[in-house]
Amino acid sequence: MSKRIPQPTTPPREKAFLVGVEIFQQKHHLPLEDSLSELELLADTAGLDVAGSLTQKLDKPHVKTYIGPGKVDELKMLVEETRSQVILFDDELSPRHQRELQEAIGRNVRVLDRTALILDIFALHAHTKEGMLQVKLAQYEYYLPRLTGQWTHLERQAGGGGGRAGSTGGVGLRGPGETQLEVDKRAIRREIAHLKRELEKVSAHRQRYRAQRKRSRIPTVALVGYTNAGKSTLLNKIAKADVYVADQLFATLDPTTRRVELPGGYQSLMTDTVGFIQKLPTALVEAFHATLEEILEADLLLHVVDISHQNALNQFNSVQQTLDELGARHIPVVTALNKVDKLRNPDSAREVTSRFPKAVAISGLSGSGVKDLLSLIQEELYETYAPIRVRLPYQQGALISLFHEAGQVELVEHGRGGVLMQGRIPGRLVAQFNGWEAGGKRREDEMEEEDA
Ligand code: GDP
Ligand code: MG
Repeated sequence: MSKRIPQPTTPPREKAFLVGVEIFQQKHHLPLEDSLSELELLADTAGLDVAGSLTQKLDKPHVKTYIGPGKVDELKMLVEETRSQVILFDDELSPRHQRELQEAIGRNVRVLDRTALILDIFALHAHTKEGMLQVKLAQYEYYLPRLTGQWTHLERQAGGGGGRAGSTGGVGLRGPGETQLEVDKRAIRREIAHLKRELEKVSAHRQRYRAQRKRSRIPTVALVGYTNAGKSTLLNKIAKADVYVADQLFATLDPTTRRVELPGGYQSLMTDTVGFIQKLPTALVEAFHATLEEILEADLLLHVVDISHQNALNQFNSVQQTLDELGARHIPVVTALNKVDKLRNPDSAREVTSRFPKAVAISGLSGSGVKDLLSLIQEELYETYAPIRVRLPYQQGALISLFHEAGQVELVEHGRGGVLMQGRIPGRLVAQFNGWEAGGKRREDEMEEEDA
């Protein structure tokens, strides 16, 4: 069963009022209402109770206050009526928007945005040294341009020395801690530089470990998926791993890897990753490269989808898009349509499997379908061959021989700088050839020219 950790806030929980804005012609992954429900779940995860919400449709954000002046007045009234202590905007506010809004609303209520909320949750849930450093760095970078005198008027509890990254037992949007926020921007920049150096050290250490793992040649599977899709639950089921599971967003932040036996006695390493979410600030995505690097170096991605969720397809697309942005397009994907036990008609999941790449309907909770999923993973890793065309410099001798040993070579062309190889290789090895793909016709012409 799931481990209980104390809730971020011990009572009384603060009240938050949500504000959602739909900007005309701006691309939205989710309808406004759904995005707000997600914000509500995020607020709950951060220990806030939602007192109400307000929405506005705009052609473009108001220059000063993001929402129009009339809406600001309405918001002020509603916040007073509901005695909310926090206002949460669903979108990231620019430092100016935030400042102007804070001035318009008054000092007793804190104006925050989705990014600050997510940072706060990340701070509460980061457990490894690297995770904590990353959150702290992301927090400093977020707060730096927002540092103004008024921050000192905001209630915050101290960040607690060398403890958890920026997280305090109090609610929200505490930032990296009161004392640190009061120091001047120069000191913060110094701290940012220091954190970056620390991170480099920790990351180098982790990479040595990963290099070792790579040498062991056990293929890796990275679990990806929208947050709350059931990744940790599934890994627990498969590997009996003790990964924290919670009905909250972002319950897992640090990579956790387990050895998993596949059918036929084959081995694999499975890595749990942080959940994806729409509007996840790019800066945060970058900050979390510890987890993301694991994704990029995986031999196979296991995309877990909560098929019982009304926005399952949206969530799938949003994750897929983030993966593309990360440069993970070359890695083969298996889809687990999870939580079929929650469907009124479990067979309906089977009907939609064809809409997803290599999909199996499962329940990570009951374990149904998991056996089939593992067979598919075994096939993908050990039996399925992927077509590939790469141009390898001669210095990449290891890769050249790997292709010869493990793959089916159809074509080899030696050029001046390297060798063009075409054929098929086991899916699990595709990632290792990342970056060496020989483009289409153009690259071929180039090679011919070089050879001439
Ligand atoms: P993650 O964010 O993707 O790691 O999701 P978790 O594994 O933490 O699960 C999120 C919530 O979904 C938890 O409350 C789980 O108990 C629940 N959950 C996960 N898998 C299933 C499933 O197959 N069926 C049902 N009914 N609930 C599930
Ligand atoms: Mg998880």
